[in-house]
Amino acid sequence: MKILLVEDEQKIADFVCAGLAARGLEVRHCDDGNVGLELVSQGVFDVIVLDIMLPGRDGLSVLKALRAAGVPTPVILLTARNELSDRIEGLNLGADDYLAKPFYVEELFARIQALLRRLAGDRSNTVLVGDFKLDRITRHASCGARSVELTTREFSLLEYLMRSAGQVFTRSQILEHVWGYDFDPSTNVVDVCIKRIRAKLADLDDAGDSAALIEAVRGAGYRFKRLD
Ligand code: CA
Repeated sequence: MKILLVEDEQKIADFVCAGLAARGLEVRHCDDGNVGLELVSQGVFDVIVLDIMLPGRDGLSVLKALRAAGVPTPVILLTARNELSDRIEGLNLGADDYLAKPFYVEELFARIQALLRRLAGDRSNTVLVGDFKLDRITRHASCGARSVELTTREFSLLEYLMRSAGQVFTRSQILEHVWGYDFDPSTNVVDVCIKRIRAKLADLDDAGDSAALIEAVRGAGYRFKRLD
């Protein structure tokens, strides 16, 4: 597994390189955005860990250039604490995940693994979050031996949330992605659909706990719980 780390803070670079290498990953490090782009054009990496504030070319601009050039390599952004606008812009530009500084290398490693599992799921027509699985062919959600069938709309909504587990989506984002509305029709279709999905998920375990995998975030929207 080859990781490219673009990070100009030597202390962070050192502990990330050492921590990931200790877990069996091969890490290539550079401390400049332009050099990072150059390295990506020269070799194939499995994951790029990209700092935002960088000399040469900042991380968001590197990300933009990568995606514009059609490079599909998953990117985890390293953001300064509380830089919400950077995170949102990063995700909009095609970042796959982000991690706020300071962080533990264990957490970065877990994110890298989760990302690679998610991408493996893409290829096999399944979406996996923990033991929880969505099958795009049969439109079934399952956990262990139990499964439930979803309607097309329910499936599309659940898939949208599960593909970025842990990330909150607003009702407008959900409306746009699942229903194709770019306006708010001032109805509660999203909430109604979420309610139906939860009722189905509740059948996946005896206690009905699976319904709680979809969390409502007050004043923001919904997210599928991260299970790693
Ligand atoms: Ca930096």
